[in-house]
Amino acid sequence: MEMPVDVVVVGAGPVGLLAAIELGLGGARVVVLERLAAPSMAIKAMSVGPLGSEALMRRGMAQALANAEARSVAAMQQFITQPGAAARGPGSKFSGHFAGLALIRKDAQKEPERRARPVDQQGVEAMLAERAGALGIEVRRGCEVTGFVQQHDGIDVAWASPAGAGRLRCAWLVGCDGGRSSIRKMAGFDFPGTAPTSTFYQAVAEIDHPDRLLPVGWHRTPAGVFSHGPVPGRLFMLDFTGPPEDRQAPVTRDEIEAVLRRISGTDVRVNVLASANRWADNTRLVDSYRRGRVLLAGDAAHVHSPFGGQGLSLGLVDAANLGWKLAAVIRGEMPDSLLDSYTAERRPAAEAVLQNTLAQVAILRPDPQAGAMRELVATLMAFDDVNRLIGETMSGLSTRYELGSARDEVGRLVGDVSIGELMQDGRGVFLDASTDGKASQLVRAATRWVRCVAVDAGPSMLVRPDACVAWAGDDNDTDGLEEALRRWFSPALESMS
Ligand SMILES: Cc1cc2nc3c(=O)[nH]c(=O)nc-3n(C[C@H](O)[C@H](O)[C@H](O)COP(=O)(O)OP(=O)(O)OC[C@H]3O[C@@H](n4cnc5c(N)ncnc54)[C@H](O)[C@@H]3O)c2cc1C
Repeated sequence: MEMPVDVVVVGAGPVGLLAAIELGLGGARVVVLERLAAPSMAIKAMSVGPLGSEALMRRGMAQALANAEARSVAAMQQFITQPGAAARGPGSKFSGHFAGLALIRKDAQKEPERRARPVDQQGVEAMLAERAGALGIEVRRGCEVTGFVQQHDGIDVAWASPAGAGRLRCAWLVGCDGGRSSIRKMAGFDFPGTAPTSTFYQAVAEIDHPDRLLPVGWHRTPAGVFSHGPVPGRLFMLDFTGPPEDRQAPVTRDEIEAVLRRISGTDVRVNVLASANRWADNTRLVDSYRRGRVLLAGDAAHVHSPFGGQGLSLGLVDAANLGWKLAAVIRGEMPDSLLDSYTAERRPAAEAVLQNTLAQVAILRPDPQAGAMRELVATLMAFDDVNRLIGETMSGLSTRYELGSARDEVGRLVGDVSIGELMQDGRGVFLDASTDGKASQLVRAATRWVRCVAVDAGPSMLVRPDACVAWAGDDNDTDGLEEALRRWFSPALESMS
């Protein structure tokens, strides 16, 4: 058996890579095992939500994100000039959609500057892989995890690659192996939810008469939903006649052409199919994100339909939430009960996404009842409060972990870029607005994993490494600060008051 490591992360998708970066920054010895020999080129996410983007920016990827965004915007220019695209372009007054209703208004949002970035999944994975490489994190490609045995003090992980097979001993196993997670199945996690009802397609194709297709944007037709853009040749079709017969079967040109003709109601042919995938509205969530020494993050823990582009960001925030906590447990600074807060915080966030995607499916269907409900939702979205509620639900900005504080900012994830810049090394931040310096003294006595920074304006805030506000206080008030430091960083901290 190979030399032990602290953590084996299974899967070098976006979530696995960020989890490994977080763990590495926290001082854990981590290895990522990925069954694919090279990154997947399948089309998946086209954008990354605000909380996911901020998680990347906090760990040294702000410039890479800006560069990738500039490339995406250039690719989209061609569509942005078309009729119907006004709802999507950078200058638009809208910032997303609910079930294809592109009515979420920037002017109704509390924090419109916290926005999704139009960077596709390959772009996100590439910047994460580069960052992981720069931090010296080992990512073993072409290496599939085939089984594991959990012992009381560690896990023996079995892997196989074209060059052979082996075993690796670790203390913790983190399954970031996607929606069909074998880690989830092998570890025996419950995965309750609703079975798929419909089939959805995403494709990049060359069409003989693209001009005949409906303009850019989502269109509910008598047979389903059809959309094209925001990049040339990208098609998106929702077929509500039933779930896929065989989800594993390759998607053929004939299948895409038939569905495209039927749903768009247009006489077009697919000349070349560059890539295509088919998925369903399977909606499931694990009951707990941890079983013993096995933890799950990302799609491995939750699956849902991709409407509104929420899955990638949801998974990245899982990784950010888990990484620093597990690293603190591995360093021996925190008991493993800290990991209970991972499920307690992230499961409700996933639940909210599952709920809103189910609701979106319900009003996308082509039947008249769905149409009537859709009209009602569109009418309600004219009200600022409703618009904000739906906007914050879709962006994830409504996320607030229940930490037991009456203050609204406690439990929220801060998005301030300048605060994120202080957290590049994986540590938390204490923003000290007090005048007597006592609060910073307390923080320094408790942990070296929080950087103290004096600020001119309050409130003072203890920000965890995942950007969650763990405590806030006004003026020279330190009430509850020691308790927060004990809870998140230093359980044995002696009272200084
Ligand atoms: C068609 C489609 C469109 C989408 N659109 C959006 C969107 O617009 N916005 C958005 O936010 N989200 C979108 N999503 C969701 C988003 O793609 C996922 O939420 C995201 O990929 C989750 O990342 P992950 O790292 O958890 O899993 P994955 O990206 O699935 O990565 C899992 C990795 O684990 C590897 N693996 C699996 N099993 C093993 C094993 N046994 N051993 C080793 N490696 C293994 C896999 O090869 C893979 O690389 C979309 C998804 C689909 C399918």
